[in-house]
Amino acid sequence: MKAAVMRDRAIVFDQVPEPTPGQGEVLVRTLACGICGSDLHFLRHAPELLAARGPQPVFTTVLDRDIVMGHEFCGEVVGYGPGCRRRLPIGTRVTSVPVGVLGGQVTTVGYSNDLPGGYGELMVLPEASLLEVPEHLATEHAALTEPMAVGLHAVVRGQPQPDHVVLVIGCGPIGLAVIQSLRLHRVHAIVAADYSPRRRELALAMGADVAVDPRRGSPYEKWLELALTGETVPSPLGELFPAAPGLRPALFFECVGVPGVIAEMMEGAPRGARIVVVGACMQEDRFRPMAGINKQLQLDFVLGYSPQEFAATLEHLAAGRLDGAPMITGKVGADGVAQAFVDLGDPERHAKILVEPWR
Ligand SMILES: [Zn+2]
Repeated sequence: MKAAVMRDRAIVFDQVPEPTPGQGEVLVRTLACGICGSDLHFLRHAPELLAARGPQPVFTTVLDRDIVMGHEFCGEVVGYGPGCRRRLPIGTRVTSVPVGVLGGQVTTVGYSNDLPGGYGELMVLPEASLLEVPEHLATEHAALTEPMAVGLHAVVRGQPQPDHVVLVIGCGPIGLAVIQSLRLHRVHAIVAADYSPRRRELALAMGADVAVDPRRGSPYEKWLELALTGETVPSPLGELFPAAPGLRPALFFECVGVPGVIAEMMEGAPRGARIVVVGACMQEDRFRPMAGINKQLQLDFVLGYSPQEFAATLEHLAAGRLDGAPMITGKVGADGVAQAFVDLGDPERHAKILVEPWR
């Protein structure tokens, strides 16, 4: 089958063996698969990431064998392995969490040497995890279920309250998914920040109330402006200490994933802020613990979503309560993935490129 393959630290277009569905597995033809920022990070930083594995790694991928990436997919059922219930007819459009089982080990589809992801024409997926895509939901929008579920999970973990004032640093696909999910949870105000004018435009289109260019103004000052209640509150240390301006509670989302951003957010955050770290930084990073201790910050690292959140996201997309469509900026075949990885480096041109390996 045709596939974009990660080989020798590069993306190459090649023919690779077709996967065969095993016990309880379904053969799925990829219809559309989003290129994720994590894939770009993985191509660049895989050796560091793999070197950081602990003594009992859950992640057993090796770099001297091919990897077909792609974990944000919509496909169609084309065949069943042995022992399947065959509950969905051939041709049914499906999506699923990108997880399979290999030799008794849970393995991520798209970061595995043995379970090819959606940058190839065919995948094998466990029958039990397949979700049927509702008929009126476009294939390309169904392919956004995975990144939108990441946003939903991050927001759920942030436990947003109606009086929170939210700051989203980074308006790539994950930041945009977080913003959409904040809207779903009826949170206002949402301050977004990104250096790219195009991404700030997308952030506003997808639900941010204000979009700040950090070159021109501090996102933390903008947050403060919106968070001031106009009242003064007594010092928690007692009445001998000066009263302080009242602030609505702070909920921050780190959606960049490069070194230095967590430290900057900790320095910029008000007392008691919760910072949800969604951006997947794969390198070593530094921050001053005292910045967090002084202000009793809560740092919450999140990963992925639960299967229930994934299924709920698909329903929200189908019902129009979540809409990722504005973030789709391009489509390529498997032979266009290498160039798409380069093009995604320019936030003025692209947010989410979909791979259609059948092209
Ligand atoms: Zn992803």
